[in-house]
Amino acid sequence: MRQVLGGIDRILARVGKRVVSSDACRETITVEACSTVRAAPCPACHRWSHRIHGRYVRRLEERPVLEQRVVLAIEVRRFKCTNANCPRRTFAENIHALAGRYQRRTRSQARALHALGHALGGEAAARLADALGLRTSADTVLRELRRASGRKRKPRPRVVGIDDWAIARGHQYGTIIVDLERREPIEVFAGRDAIAVAAWMRAHPS
Ligand SMILES: [Zn+2]
Repeated sequence: MRQVLGGIDRILARVGKRVVSSDACRETITVEACSTVRAAPCPACHRWSHRIHGRYVRRLEERPVLEQRVVLAIEVRRFKCTNANCPRRTFAENIHALAGRYQRRTRSQARALHALGHALGGEAAARLADALGLRTSADTVLRELRRASGRKRKPRPRVVGIDDWAIARGHQYGTIIVDLERREPIEVFAGRDAIAVAAWMRAHPS
């Protein structure tokens, strides 16, 4: 266990965090880490600030270890921008290397879900993720795929495959369009009606 925590400690050190405690309770290991960040640049004006305005705890789901769920409880500091001409009054320190904005999971957990979704599609990926102890739903896998497909500009698809599957026990459906030449999902949307697919085809004449 000490070695496992040592590994987590090294990952957290990259974003200025230090593990202060870990607690195993009912199949969940909660690792608490404090922030060691004393100054941070304002995302709007880029001026560095040392004025700590407050702090909050962000809980992030990490990949499971030894069949135990791992939750990181990370202290994030807020700073006051000292530039009087800046529109931002306060801002939080940046932990993007650990987790994307508004994400409730670490990048490593998100990558695992994305890889599963990529290989299997929403529903099957969610089932396998569950067996692997990566708590998720088809919905979440869908969101991960959508987030990843929105990140980079792709070449125009020429040959696509279309698949649908049930979200939320058959009450709702999702459609995924895959670039068959590159084997990458390129679009994910809710619903499975032909109108949405036809609209997508019109928007992508290639
Ligand atoms: Zn600023």
